[in-house]
Amino acid sequence: MSLTTYFMEATYLIASILFVLALKGMSHPETARRGMFLAEGGMFAAIVGTLIGAHIVTWVWIVTGLTVGSIIGALMAIWVPMTAMPQRTALSHAFGAFAAALVGIGEFVVKAAEMGAVTRGALGFEVMLGALTTTGSLIAAGKLQGVIAGKPIQFRGQNAVNLIVALAMVSSFVFFWIHPEVVVAFYAMLGLAFVFGVMLVIPIGSADMPVVMSLLNSYAGLAAAATGFVLGNNVLIIAGTLDGFSGFILSVLMCKAMNRSITNVLFGGFGAVIAEASSNADGVMREISLDDAAMQLAFASRVVFVPGYGLATAQAQHACRELGDLLQGRGVTVKYAIHPVAGRMPGHMNVLLAEANVPYSSLYEMEQINPEFSSTDVAVVIGANDVVNPDARDNPKSLIAGMPILEVDRAKSVIVLKRGQGRGFSGLENPLFFKSCTSMLYGDAKSTLTHLAQAVQHV
Ligand code: NAP
Repeated sequence: MSLTTYFMEATYLIASILFVLALKGMSHPETARRGMFLAEGGMFAAIVGTLIGAHIVTWVWIVTGLTVGSIIGALMAIWVPMTAMPQRTALSHAFGAFAAALVGIGEFVVKAAEMGAVTRGALGFEVMLGALTTTGSLIAAGKLQGVIAGKPIQFRGQNAVNLIVALAMVSSFVFFWIHPEVVVAFYAMLGLAFVFGVMLVIPIGSADMPVVMSLLNSYAGLAAAATGFVLGNNVLIIAGTLDGFSGFILSVLMCKAMNRSITNVLFGGFGAVIAEASSNADGVMREISLDDAAMQLAFASRVVFVPGYGLATAQAQHACRELGDLLQGRGVTVKYAIHPVAGRMPGHMNVLLAEANVPYSSLYEMEQINPEFSSTDVAVVIGANDVVNPDARDNPKSLIAGMPILEVDRAKSVIVLKRGQGRGFSGLENPLFFKSCTSMLYGDAKSTLTHLAQAVQHV
């Protein structure tokens, strides 16, 4: 082994260790930031190792790719708002998976004839997963951005058609594996995989899209691992496998938090059955004035803030913390309740509240805070809807029946901050808003919280 190869293998080892430590860091909100830095360090080490140790045909393409990729990445990081993070992530998956598919196509064109059976199998796997993840992720991004209808697009016999496309794709893969000289089998597999990616995602409603994306993330990771086998690159194998399996575990956890099964997400067509579902919502919503809400908060002994997607769209996290601090200064015990799928991506609320410097010790997971609601004076729901919908607990006919919720309706009083009568992501009405313990405080969450803080100061 030459010195540069030793160097490359050493940087790959360092990168792999950093990726493992990064994942560990990212599994907890307190250490997540450090985890991200470790992951960046790992990626940097892997790139430097590859550039120094690998055989570079021409630097022009490398430098062009690095420059264009860095500019696109930086622009996306600067301009895409937090609320659009899921579709941004879907685009990243599409880019990553397309890169894996392109590498596979390149390897096929240059070396297919001299590949052994195992490498050829990995190559087929890489191209197939890479291609279907590319189109699947693009459709997911389009649905989340609203460019494509978010409703499930379904037709009679869809599952049968999908099965036929999947079988044809896998058959082409097997044929290519056995007869690499039949070039058409490889390209048939590639084309069918692109089509299958579209077919897989269009029947799924945008409500389930974050789970689908996390699954696609897992596919992109496995495609990268397969690329590692084809190129004989250890760091790609390790990073791809970590990505593949962590994405899969995340999908399972998200399904659990929404009381759905992965099969149901992939083949159920969530939004399609909305018309058949029922809701317990009945009566009138009672409005409360800003001064009355401020009075309730100022004289409470225990207050729980329950943030949701509306807090993110309003960017109200700083205003929320300021009100919390103010109340704490008056001797009120303030806690923040975090639902695992509040917002639009896992950990969404943790990230926002951490950005506003809410101490981690004030954040309570659903299981910790639910028993405390009955002794809570005021639960302040800030732009949350589905995650506090009591129908999930009380109405077996509800579309979200069985989804674990934050049981704010057990609090002595509930104040809901939202702009109007808009529904949550599931599109369902929420009976919480009609309960006698609940009052509605209408307006954009950020300005309402700011005005509430001012009003509390005058109590
Ligand atoms: P939600 O059910 O989507 O409700 C958000 C509420 O915020 C809306 O009712 C809206 O009502 C209000 N709102 C919007 N903008 C606002 C603003 N500027 N100021 C004040 N209020 C505002 O949110 P959620 O309770 O957080 O539930 C999340 C949903 O996403 C769940 O259905 C969950 O299953 C789904 N989901 C999440 C994830 C994840 O990883 N987090 C993954 C998959 C699915 P108005 O229009 O009346 O203001």
